[in-house]
Amino acid sequence: MEHLKFEEMGISPELCRAIKDMGFEEATPIQSKAISAALSGRDIIGQSQTGTGKTAAFGIPCIERINPDDRRLQAVILCPTRELAIQVSEEFRRLLKYKDNIRVLPIYGGQPIDRQITALKKGAQIIIGTPGRVMDHMRRRTLKMETVQMMILDEADEMLDMGFREDIETILVKIPAEHQTMLFSATLSPEILDITKRFQTDPEFIKVVRKELTVPSIEQYYFDVKEKTKLEALTRMIDIYDPKLALIFCNTKKRVDDLVEALQGRGYFAEALHGDLKQPQRDKVMQKFRNGTIELLVATDVAARGIDVDDIDIVFNYDIPQDEEYYVHRIGRTGRAGRSGKAFTFCVGKEIYKLRDIMRYTKTKIVQQKLPTLSDVEEMKTAIFLEHIQETLKEGHLMPYIDMAERLAGEEYTALDVAAALIKYHVSAFRTDDAEILDDINLGGTEIYGGSGEKMVRVFINAGKKQKIRTKDVVGAIANEAGVPGKALGAIDIFDDYTFVDVPHEYVRDVLYGMKNCRLKNKKVHVEIAKKEKHKK
Ligand code: ADP
Ligand code: MG
Repeated sequence: MEHLKFEEMGISPELCRAIKDMGFEEATPIQSKAISAALSGRDIIGQSQTGTGKTAAFGIPCIERINPDDRRLQAVILCPTRELAIQVSEEFRRLLKYKDNIRVLPIYGGQPIDRQITALKKGAQIIIGTPGRVMDHMRRRTLKMETVQMMILDEADEMLDMGFREDIETILVKIPAEHQTMLFSATLSPEILDITKRFQTDPEFIKVVRKELTVPSIEQYYFDVKEKTKLEALTRMIDIYDPKLALIFCNTKKRVDDLVEALQGRGYFAEALHGDLKQPQRDKVMQKFRNGTIELLVATDVAARGIDVDDIDIVFNYDIPQDEEYYVHRIGRTGRAGRSGKAFTFCVGKEIYKLRDIMRYTKTKIVQQKLPTLSDVEEMKTAIFLEHIQETLKEGHLMPYIDMAERLAGEEYTALDVAAALIKYHVSAFRTDDAEILDDINLGGTEIYGGSGEKMVRVFINAGKKQKIRTKDVVGAIANEAGVPGKALGAIDIFDDYTFVDVPHEYVRDVLYGMKNCRLKNKKVHVEIAKKEKHKK
């Protein structure tokens, strides 16, 4: 009984419709428990983690208990900051979509008080404000508390942390004795309990604890990427792992649409799933996903909630989830029914902090992994291709094809030549758009042998001492843009106008590809294979 349906909670049809428009499919656990208790008029202490829908948990019963025919102030909601006051007001506005005779007004510091006074004179049944500004209006008698029947303290822990205790108490003593008080918080300190003892009567204590996460069969990795290299990283991973079904999460609808477009542009079978889709469209997409017509489903968290597919191989967090809870929901989509699954998270710069929070909360270790290089991708594709050939050999029935092969070979070639040519033809198609780079390496470039005898290729960059380029700039750029570790690089020679870097053969294409639009010391640079004549010292 963790999640109730809103329709089953005795909520008015207008409100149910608004909730549906907001895209909420079912109540969150705190909502499931708090709404009915609050509708009965009881005092409430609600505790649950950030992001679990506490606003609607008090917003829905608050709206239901307002008498629309009475234009006077009936409910006051206190929030710690103006941003939160605005957010809560917006959520209330959405909930009030089909109830035109209930007015809600945000009241916070930083907004001209005259304008607030004018707005207050027009009358509002619900006020959402920060404690300081609410007190201010109480003193001016522009806010009359005598008719207040509901008092809500949102994010109470934060309000106390910010030193609002006295203000809150001043406000609470001013409202009529007969009223309902609801307090919501992510954590409960003794200070909060003190307030509830003084100002609440027989409150119902509703606490939603997180379930412990046990996900032994899901391998979790993260990749340090840049925003602009995410798409390339994603497609390489898809090519390498070749998932039958993968679910890719983005944080907004726009991000979902953009990614789907980019993936389709690269020839992947991808579709979007987000809140803007009507039910029939949704069903169609899910149908395609289930029967394998599409292999990549790009979704937002909310849209993915309803997904019920068992054999998702990989979950990608293309955007790192805003909330730890979402992470758990997301990766829980793979590794179901005892199958093994993988969860890959892209992490851009400072987002590593969010990732640490996630690890703390889930008590799992998410291990960093290196992005596959272009050569890795090719190798993998080649391996898959050769596997297919072996399977085909085993299947037999080759007679008509043997004829063709014989005709192709004729007098001049052997059957082995023909087979090799076929393989070459297919495998070369796996190369990305930079086949010319390889040719460059093979034809024009110079191979050098590194200290341990490995094959290196000298790379030219058109910036040097005059542009104040230092070794660490070069190493940093190559590490960041191409994902090639500094210690893998060979000699770096910086001249007045240009620089040479010795790059291991396997990384050359990553360097050239990754540094295509790269800047060094804020100047766009060009990077290419060093021509023989150019690098004489
Ligand atoms: P909290 O106050 O607990 O941190 P919020 O009330 O700010 O959480 O809600 C977090 C997000 O979840 C908001 O974007 C909200 O619109 C959304 N949300 C709330 N309830 C539901 C629900 N039942 N289904 C889907 N999304 C919800
Ligand atoms: Mg909140």
